[in-house]
Amino acid sequence: MDSPIKVRFPPSPTGFCHVGTARMAILNYLFAKKNGGTIVFRSEDTDKARSRPEFEEDIKEQLQWLGLSWDEFYRTTDLVSTHTDAMQKLVAEDKACVSEEESKKEPGTMVQVVRLRNPGTAITFTDLIRGEITFDTTELGDFAIGRAIDDPLYHLAVVVDDASHGITHVIRGEDHISNTPRQILIQEALGYPRPQYAHYPLHLGADRSKLSKRTGDVAVKSYREKGFLPQALLNYIAVLGWTAPSGKELLSLTEMIEAFDIRDVHKSGAVFDMEKLRWFNREYILKLTDDEFAAAVLPIMEEGMQGRGLTWDQGMATKLLPVIKERVSVWSDLSEQLAAGEYDLFFKDPTPAAEEIPGKGNTKAAAATHLAKLHELYIGASAEIFDTPERLKDTVWEYATEQGRGAVLWPMRFSLSGLARSPDPFTIASIIGRDATLRRLDAARQLLI
Ligand code: GLU
Repeated sequence: MDSPIKVRFPPSPTGFCHVGTARMAILNYLFAKKNGGTIVFRSEDTDKARSRPEFEEDIKEQLQWLGLSWDEFYRTTDLVSTHTDAMQKLVAEDKACVSEEESKKEPGTMVQVVRLRNPGTAITFTDLIRGEITFDTTELGDFAIGRAIDDPLYHLAVVVDDASHGITHVIRGEDHISNTPRQILIQEALGYPRPQYAHYPLHLGADRSKLSKRTGDVAVKSYREKGFLPQALLNYIAVLGWTAPSGKELLSLTEMIEAFDIRDVHKSGAVFDMEKLRWFNREYILKLTDDEFAAAVLPIMEEGMQGRGLTWDQGMATKLLPVIKERVSVWSDLSEQLAAGEYDLFFKDPTPAAEEIPGKGNTKAAAATHLAKLHELYIGASAEIFDTPERLKDTVWEYATEQGRGAVLWPMRFSLSGLARSPDPFTIASIIGRDATLRRLDAARQLLI
């Protein structure tokens, strides 16, 4: 490469940062970092009616949250004087003309339009992902590049900005491919060097529909609010349409930079799969240290307990961390489980319905006998067996096997949890401890007699 690599993130601040914006930024970021290049963030605020500062803020914030960064920042509207200079140059060289035309929006009103004199040549460029592409530009005619000499239209602005920022590589979604011939014609008229282009396929929704940036559920912040980890979302979005040569999917940002080659970006569109994202997120949760896991989970638990009107017990919550680790792919799973009362049993004694304690094919009398026996076995054992589920299991396993495991363990689990679905009875007993276990077994037995 003769000039240092420079790429751009050029989002239009007309909506919240969505997965498509993140994908554009990640691919540009990986390419720039792999090749020792720099990144320009250009907020393309040419659509004055729809551009909003809060959207620009959101895009910056979410990209930073994902772990991305840039070296320079501009707004298209701050650069209007360079656009005007470029249009004046084109008009002076007779490569563009200013004409008075009837407004399409307001018939009867005359407006000024700056049009490029299109030489009507065939434009061929080599796309780093799609190979050689040729467009016949005659049908574009003398297209508009400004509403007035000091009011640039989008294509002119993009070309002038890319050239004045020294952009060497334009990496963007294939929805922009039809813009490329227009932009190349403007570049050629201005005598600018042509950057290299790479148009990647857009990704699709699970139903293979095109994702819209205005659909709230694909806003990056909605994934953030659900509690996805930034490194998981970043990794998933990066591999959505790109595979590392090793075939490995779980990659840190550093590993992705190391492995990245734009030619490995897929030529066909990937499907954004929520289940797969959840799988990635779970893998990243499993990579957290115990301290990081506790720091993320405990505040969610505290809020969940408050929502259930239960007294916060940090010691109990800490004991539950391994159980929670087994059961969550994303933090919102935990909030939902808490709201559904799935952890209440650890913070207060359940109130199991007597009819449900025996379980299928078991009589109340038989269940009462089993609960009495379990109580007897546990009260007679040393207190240390409550330290691990294994020892609690060993203590009663022979009895349960002899009597039928379902017949013994269902009433045990139901007495301890009051729930049809819960962790296994030994895990529960080891977490709630000896006193609560004995008390719950006895209370349930009394309901049966
Ligand atoms: N501002 C355009 C968009 O948000 C991107 C333009 C480009 O990549 O050239 O879709």
